[in-house]
Amino acid sequence: MTRKMKKATSPAEAAGIIGEARKKGLSVGLVPTMGALHEGHLSLVRMSLGRSGFTAVSLFVNPKQFGAGEDLGRYPRTEDQDSKLLEELGVDLLFMPPADSLYSDADRTTVSVRELGDRLCGSSRPGHFDGVMLVVAKLFNIIRPDFAFFGQKDAQQAVVIQRMAADLDFHVRIFLGPTVREDDGLAMSSRNRYLTAKERALAPAMRKGLLESADAIRKGERDAKKVTGIVTARMKEAGFEIDYAELVDGATLIPLDKAEGTVLLAAAGKLGTTRLIDNMALRISPEGVSETLLEFPEWSRYER
Ligand code: AMP
Repeated sequence: MTRKMKKATSPAEAAGIIGEARKKGLSVGLVPTMGALHEGHLSLVRMSLGRSGFTAVSLFVNPKQFGAGEDLGRYPRTEDQDSKLLEELGVDLLFMPPADSLYSDADRTTVSVRELGDRLCGSSRPGHFDGVMLVVAKLFNIIRPDFAFFGQKDAQQAVVIQRMAADLDFHVRIFLGPTVREDDGLAMSSRNRYLTAKERALAPAMRKGLLESADAIRKGERDAKKVTGIVTARMKEAGFEIDYAELVDGATLIPLDKAEGTVLLAAAGKLGTTRLIDNMALRISPEGVSETLLEFPEWSRYER
């Protein structure tokens, strides 16, 4: 039997329900999403259910993280189906705030993570990470989670959130889940449904290019330009308009000349009108090269 999932639309209602869970001594896990849920989201929900006494999922298409001319208006919304999936999994609370319960014209505060938010996706999506940080900071304050779960798929987002949480002393431990993929390697994304059949067939080239770049590193290539040149070439062949293909430090996101330490190999580009991103984190040492998840040790300063 599935337990009844609670639903809240106002922040006060959500905070009240969380307060009840806290009184019962339950730990609280939060999985923030923009809905149109797929297996990538659900894998994070399962991580939270496994670790937390009480799991809250937020579903909010955050207008502040979309730039002018981006896809806010056509972003897929499948709320009834999302709600059903989450209830079946055993989620405790679905928080679906309307935009005017989080934002008002009186708002004046921004949350900006210098430098980290300007690199990679930040350079072609100015203001995007400020929008993400604002809503994540608000969600952290409303839900006050012990744990929050994000996908490696959006590695830069996870790095920026972790920095914001550490800088602002949110007592939350950030966990990353591995990127969940379609059978042909394409990273699952709510935006994949925008692809035409032809584009969908070409889209896995980004993942294939990243795998080839990683293979070159495994075989001893350390020159970042040569490594990123491989994925760039594969994406161009498939017809991507390339936004970036970069090898950056896994903690600072600073571009590297040489592949060493924990690195993030990340790419973004457009197929037709659809912007796709993907990445691989690699640990490179004299002993070898292994794929990894980015790790965030900062939370441990609040371990009780
Ligand atoms: P979104 O709804 O796109 O804002 O994503 C909500 C959360 O799900 C973020 O933490 C994403 O990184 C994560 N996510 C999205 N796609 C995937 C995927 N294919 N695999 C794992 N996590 C994902």
